[in-house]
Amino acid sequence: MKAEIVAVGTELLLGQIVNTNARFLAVECAGLGIDVYYQTVVGDNKDRLLETLKLAASRADIVICTGGLGPTQDDLTKDVLAAYIGRELIIHEPSMSKISDFFSSRGIHMVESNRRQALMLEGCDPLLNDTGMAVGVAVTYEGTHFILLPGPPKEMKPMFTNYAAAWLSSVMTDEVPLYSKMLRFAGIGESSLEHQLMDLIQDQQDPTIAPYAKEGEVAIRLTTRARDVEEGKQKLLPLEQEIRTRVGDFIYADEDLPLEHVILQLLSSKMMTLSVAESCTGGLLSDLITAVPGSSQSFLGGIICYTNLLKNKLLQVPMEVLEGDAAPGAVSEETASLLAQNLLNTTGSDWSLSVTGVAGPGESEGKPVGLVYVGLGKRGAQPQIFTLKLSGNRDMIKLRAAKSALYQLWK
Ligand code: ATP
Ligand code: MG
Repeated sequence: MKAEIVAVGTELLLGQIVNTNARFLAVECAGLGIDVYYQTVVGDNKDRLLETLKLAASRADIVICTGGLGPTQDDLTKDVLAAYIGRELIIHEPSMSKISDFFSSRGIHMVESNRRQALMLEGCDPLLNDTGMAVGVAVTYEGTHFILLPGPPKEMKPMFTNYAAAWLSSVMTDEVPLYSKMLRFAGIGESSLEHQLMDLIQDQQDPTIAPYAKEGEVAIRLTTRARDVEEGKQKLLPLEQEIRTRVGDFIYADEDLPLEHVILQLLSSKMMTLSVAESCTGGLLSDLITAVPGSSQSFLGGIICYTNLLKNKLLQVPMEVLEGDAAPGAVSEETASLLAQNLLNTTGSDWSLSVTGVAGPGESEGKPVGLVYVGLGKRGAQPQIFTLKLSGNRDMIKLRAAKSALYQLWK
């Protein structure tokens, strides 16, 4: 089925708020196997809203509107849809009681306009609002399914997830659901991955193949329509095998998990521990790792040795290595290696990672922005050093450096 998302609100047109509702609904629709063909934004204006609803109904099977369900004069969405499809507006009694209870419990006088939030279209299915007052609407008119949701995301999201999604599923009984699989990659950039899969991406039909850049990593979603999981797997298999033949070395998960999660699973399955020494990532690597619940099983902790002073005092990197005309410097193979090795000695972990580099915006020690050294220490072995030349702004370089360090450990 084809859908159109209509966001109602003059504030959206003026750029005062960002249309995050459309983004949320687009993702939810994709999950339900609904193809979103258009997203529209229209102001709080009766005539233009009516025009928009008519156009949407002419080109979509499902029209999902957000905004304009509130009590004020510029909240018009229900009035306009009611006029369009020739239905009366009537009071939804449970919502009305909830609104009057709310006001009486606070001892506030309820004004007439508050009753507007309890209005729904005659013969429609009401969508309950668990986190606010305005009741939502689901109704089918001349083959088009309309859904009206409130504007505030904290009301709109639960109303969609808890009520509207089930209503949509009930009107889409003939649809074959979507089945999709996420392949997640590390150690390969988005453009390089796309380049190697270009023909598959260009010739795609069923299954579809969609690359994503996700928090410093890349992922690919393969999607098809299937009646059950087994059929879905079988339909995706040839394409997945072809992708694995070409770039399988970089696939670290075939589900939607970040790299740090997979690494922690690996470490804990082997009863091994990790510690990190971070210079240019400033704690980001530790932050990524500790965002995974249960990380304390394998992650001992980290040292943010941002200055030379701390590299020297806490991890015994000699000043002669860090400073001086002939010294390798803080951003060097030598420093990365000493950090990784001395950290192992200090913490007693099985593995260690060190990261030192130039995050920018300016160069440092005469070394270019994006030059990063990662040290990978393993108990009983010499540290391995990896030289990275990363691109992007300061934040991107920090994130890419942290992810690349994790990648070296995973590899
Ligand atoms: P209210 O009862 O708050 O008036 P409403 O259903 O009438 O709700 P609007 O008046 O259109 O909705 O919008 C209320 C608020 O909801 C906006 O000020 C904004 O903060 C948020 N909002 C509305 N539309 C969107 C949108 N498309 N994306 C993100 N936020 C939105
Ligand atoms: Mg409003």
